[in-house]
Amino acid sequence: TDIKPVSLRQVIDEATLLLQPHIKQSKVRLDLALPTEDIIVKGGRIRLEQVVINLLSNALDAVSGNAASLAMPEVRLELRQEGSEAVLTVSDNGTGIDADVLPQIFDPFFTTKDVGAGLGLGLSIAYKIVHDFSGSLKAANRDGGGAVFTMRLPVADEHV
Ligand code: ADP
Ligand code: MG
Repeated sequence: TDIKPVSLRQVIDEATLLLQPHIKQSKVRLDLALPTEDIIVKGGRIRLEQVVINLLSNALDAVSGNAASLAMPEVRLELRQEGSEAVLTVSDNGTGIDADVLPQIFDPFFTTKDVGAGLGLGLSIAYKIVHDFSGSLKAANRDGGGAVFTMRLPVADEHV
């Protein structure tokens, strides 16, 4: 596989641009919290965009699937550097993840969505991509409701 320095700002810009029509239509507020300085990791730009698109799409699904909630649907994407790691989180105030399915969500073809609504491949692909670039991807529920996904990638050497 082709591994090059990748700008996470560019990855986020392109992923959010691609999803913009969907975000507008779903009336979800997308809150971006990006550092003033870009973060460079080693990987593949298109594949990292795929990861961010998958995480954001799931968050959008989760907030629109939470119609019973009175909360304003909100998705937040945050990027920061912690030492030699880039940390990207996508959090939402949607349905959250049932504790009994949490261990399975990264499995290929696992989905809780209706037939046709989800193939259950997004997270397994994202997991593989992130691990191919020596990173990690974890899921958790938030205290106030909703889910948070945390991707960690080593910052490219010359940028630490
Ligand atoms: P799909 O989106 O096609 O169902 P994914 O692999 O992207 O497949 O996700 C697998 C499952 O993980 C989803 O069906 C859902 O149950 C759960 N999931 C993923 N992201 C979220 C989220 N942000 N909030 C709640 N559940 C989620
Ligand atoms: Mg998905």
